[in-house]
Amino acid sequence: MDTQEAYAELGLDPNASDAQVKANWRRLVAAWHPDRNSAADAGSRMQSINKAYQHIRQLRDGGGEEDPDDASDSGAEATAAPEPAPTESDSARKTHFRTVRLSLEDAILGCTRTLRGHFTHVCNACVGKGQRVLAKACTTCKGSGAVHKAALFGWLWNQESCADCGGDGRQRAACDVCEGSGERTVAYRRRVRFPAGLREGHVLSVPTSHHGELELGLELQVEIEPHPVFTLDEEGVLRCEMPVNGYAWMAARWVEVPTPDGLQQMRLNREALVYRLAGQGFPTALRGPRGDYMVKVVPVFPDQDDPAQEALLDSLIAASTRSAAADRTQPLGQWQRRMKRWNHSTKEAAGD
Ligand SMILES: [Zn+2]
Ligand SMILES: [Zn+2]
Repeated sequence: MDTQEAYAELGLDPNASDAQVKANWRRLVAAWHPDRNSAADAGSRMQSINKAYQHIRQLRDGGGEEDPDDASDSGAEATAAPEPAPTESDSARKTHFRTVRLSLEDAILGCTRTLRGHFTHVCNACVGKGQRVLAKACTTCKGSGAVHKAALFGWLWNQESCADCGGDGRQRAACDVCEGSGERTVAYRRRVRFPAGLREGHVLSVPTSHHGELELGLELQVEIEPHPVFTLDEEGVLRCEMPVNGYAWMAARWVEVPTPDGLQQMRLNREALVYRLAGQGFPTALRGPRGDYMVKVVPVFPDQDDPAQEALLDSLIAASTRSAAADRTQPLGQWQRRMKRWNHSTKEAAGD
């Protein structure tokens, strides 16, 4: 996405103020969030809107690099809020917009992460010029603001504005706050608690931290990593589809199923292909209780070209047919007796 497209996505001109950018982005996110908008393309619109916003923010605030790492300890420094905090126009207060990728398990159970990054902003001391103006005269032009330049082998002299002082005749020195670069980079490290129930596209505001005169807030856009086993459907229902041995399914055996909390034993039932594991799914709301987890089984039977398995099946069928025939109360036994009687009587009739 280029800059022009990014502004178009948010319905703005490139000269829109920061506040306008943020306001339009908020309005569009509220309108297109898949939690609230059931349109088929709500998810992709939401992503474009967030990409556009991120692009513009990085253009205006300076980019920061991403270096999230998994933290093993759980002492949370900051609890992320579900919605961005109101905008402040205070120039010493900046917001770094970045994405954070969470695994589906982390999104379901909540997690704590240490986020490291760099944030570059315009130097306040020199307003980005990289230099400050001294009281003494410019040494290049001796304070006149103009320099003579030889042209045509020194026969003529051109007068030009002094490049070193910009023509005002005053000496410049490199800004000592930013060492002449005009910008400052702060490194930050924040412990952030991610509440359970975050979904793709959610944006969290992390309270500001102080870096000298700079107050730095973080806005974190959540991305959920694709999962090898689970899927989260449009309604926020956690699902899994798994093949099971067809005979184990017929015989109502126990199988191991993956759940967000680990492997679990589940008893198959030949009447059912879909199983509801109550309270083991994705949270029904941010910080809310866990919803149900739906496991769909696909019974798989082996190809019928294994003689050993065919022989086992034949003996299984023979044994179950014999026991059914011996039992008058069973439909199979009743059917066989009825068929035998009928066959007998037709033979007798044919014999006359
Ligand atoms: Zn000068
Ligand atoms: Zn400076």
